[in-house]
Amino acid sequence: MAVALEIMHMMNRSFFASLDAKTQIRLRMTALAAGDYAANLVIMLGFAISGAVSWDIPLKILAVAVVFNIIFMTAIASGLSLRFRDPSLTAIQTYAAWGMILLGIFLAPQISYIFILYLIVPMSFASLHFSRRMLWLAWLFLMCALGFVMWIVGGAMANNVATLTERALFWAGLAIVFARFVASNAEIAGLRARLQEKNKALSAMTSQLTAATGKLVELANHDELTGLLNRREFMRRLHEELMRSERRKSVFCVAIIDVDHFKRVNDEYGHLIGDAVLSQLARQLGATQRGTDTVARYGGEEFTLLLVDADADAAAKGLERMRSSIERFDWEPLTPGRSITISAGIAAWQAGDTDERILNRADAALYAAKNSGRNCVKKAVAIALNSIEELPQHEACPASADIPAQASD
Ligand code: GH3
Ligand code: MG
Ligand code: MG
Repeated sequence: MAVALEIMHMMNRSFFASLDAKTQIRLRMTALAAGDYAANLVIMLGFAISGAVSWDIPLKILAVAVVFNIIFMTAIASGLSLRFRDPSLTAIQTYAAWGMILLGIFLAPQISYIFILYLIVPMSFASLHFSRRMLWLAWLFLMCALGFVMWIVGGAMANNVATLTERALFWAGLAIVFARFVASNAEIAGLRARLQEKNKALSAMTSQLTAATGKLVELANHDELTGLLNRREFMRRLHEELMRSERRKSVFCVAIIDVDHFKRVNDEYGHLIGDAVLSQLARQLGATQRGTDTVARYGGEEFTLLLVDADADAAAKGLERMRSSIERFDWEPLTPGRSITISAGIAAWQAGDTDERILNRADAALYAAKNSGRNCVKKAVAIALNSIEELPQHEACPASADIPAQASD
């Protein structure tokens, strides 16, 4: 640490401050490594004082450590290290540390146990930054280099802890190594805890966002008054169905339903009752539709139906069921003295249809239903836009009992 501080002081203070945040972090990391060397040096000096090693050993290690650190710090501070894939020079610094420790074994084999322990420190540091592959490569390198040094040193490697001082120094070395090991792992634990917190916050936000998006989609696709799908969503589904039919040549039908003389309902009972009638109609339509069909509020007092896998006859049966269920419904509580009826026009898909063409045919059929007295269902079958075929069961479209057929609003 002392070495690092000295180097820091040597640098102009404002120069350090002028460096970008990342470079400052990289320099601090290098200073931390220098701190490790300094701590080891103190232990080494202890061994020199106790007479276990000669004085030149700590001095040699100090010299190498200072040179290495000056090189690393200069490379980082000057921006030279930016040319490398890892500008922190983690790998080079790790291997340099191991090199220095192996040098220690070579120079002072009589206390090799302490150096062997020190080998763990760069490994624990590397485990924070290296990829899995790099870690295993580092292990392989270290084991080969250690084996080589052990082979060179031979029998001189004696792990002597005979005196109390040597045992105390060995213990101090262990304490340092384990402290660094704990520090590295504490950093991992801290990172993990932060990550877990962030994940929790993120998943809470994601579920809030999903719920909000769901609500938004629901709002965007549905009609507020009736809760049915709105015109936009209906048009999207119609378009999808057209595309599918074009591919598979499967027939489907579109129906437009219009409430008969609805203006009179508003005029006689008020707009609020009119709204309640529309809501009740939506419920009736929903209750009588097939599960696979789509009912939507097309706008005002008009509804649309998408009847998939149904030809005009099947669709007419379904619409007739709806018409009669609405006719038979007890409207007395809502509109005393007036029954509500609907008219509907059906168009079956024809090859080459567009959204507009099929809707126009259904509209023309609805127009025909209105013209033949309302409260009935008509289907448009012919290719020609205005060709309308009447439903056999409704040839004489009955007008609702309380509404004169010739009345016009
Ligand atoms: P027809 O049998 O020819 O369809 O007669 P109609 O009176 O139903 O036809 P028209 O299109 O003239 O009138 C539709 C009325 O529907 C007019 C409008 O005030 C009313 N309306 C449209 N949207 C709403 C709504 O959301 N609530 C209420 N209460 N009335 C609505
Ligand atoms: Mg209308
Ligand atoms: Mg109407």
